[in-house]
Amino acid sequence: MKQPAVALVIPVFNEEPVLPELIRRLTAVFDGQPAIAWSAILVNDGSRDRSAALIAEHHGRDPRFKLVELSRNFGFQAALAAGLEAATAADAVVTMDADLQDPPELIPEMVAKWQAGAEVVRAVRKTREETGLRRAAFDLFHKLFGALSDYPVEPNSGTYGLLARPAVDAFNQLTERNRFFPGLRAWVGFVRAEVFYDRKERAAGEAQQTFSRLVRYASDGVFSFSYLPLRALTYAGIFVGTCGFLLGLYYIIKRLVDIETAPTGFTTLAALVLFLGGVQLIGIGVLGEYLGRVYDEVKRRPNYIVRRRVGLE
Ligand code: UDP
Ligand code: MG
Repeated sequence: MKQPAVALVIPVFNEEPVLPELIRRLTAVFDGQPAIAWSAILVNDGSRDRSAALIAEHHGRDPRFKLVELSRNFGFQAALAAGLEAATAADAVVTMDADLQDPPELIPEMVAKWQAGAEVVRAVRKTREETGLRRAAFDLFHKLFGALSDYPVEPNSGTYGLLARPAVDAFNQLTERNRFFPGLRAWVGFVRAEVFYDRKERAAGEAQQTFSRLVRYASDGVFSFSYLPLRALTYAGIFVGTCGFLLGLYYIIKRLVDIETAPTGFTTLAALVLFLGGVQLIGIGVLGEYLGRVYDEVKRRPNYIVRRRVGLE
């Protein structure tokens, strides 16, 4: 019988400081489960350090480690998509971060769930070691996203998880540009399972996702999985319109009933104009968010461009 093949897909962006430890810990996991044909596809997302060279060198020592090198920095989601498309030989794919916030020691547990019949295994965080503003922002986002999404949301999980071949194929068909992995994973369905872990601080180096990127990522999550912002605009329009109509009616009746019409009301007017102007600008902004995404989609540019592959066809 053929050995089950499991590939890890790991986006790498300026991760030189963690790569040696990553490779060491993955090797330990691989060697502990010789019944599985392992490979690790590290997707170099335009690193400015020696990450790509390090991976290519290591491929010479251990061909289970493979490299997909993108032509520039395309961002985490694109790198993930590149890895998933490169993992053609795998029966299951594990997606994880390079910085060891996702402990590789959890992989055998995910593989066991897969072998027991699950097709999408999600690693759920029991705790998060991030603190301060970043932490608060993550929590806020998850609350907001849960309330806004038109699809079921799966809280407390990020990229870390396993996808069986059918789920990987389904994923590779999703060619949309503004990608939000946890949302897409919830969207594809399949037989699901969960494993639990404690999320660690990154092992070395600095977070490569800047705060503004995370905000962008979060808004991709909201706008590509929810029409609620648009609907909210309609409701706001109806509400403000109704208020305006009633107010108008009130003034007309007032004028008809008593003739007292002093030329006052500048404050009221100014407040109304500013308020309505604000509502309209927000409305245009929300439309713009959707329009920009539509524009991205119709251009049909590929999500990434591969410069070279090492150890893969
Ligand atoms: N990453 C990437 N391209 C980028 C930014 C990040 O491939 O443009 C990778 C990074 O190397 C890491 C993963 O995405 O493996 C998560 O990044 P990071 O740890 O900076 O994000 P966070 O943990 O804050 O979500
Ligand atoms: Mg990280």
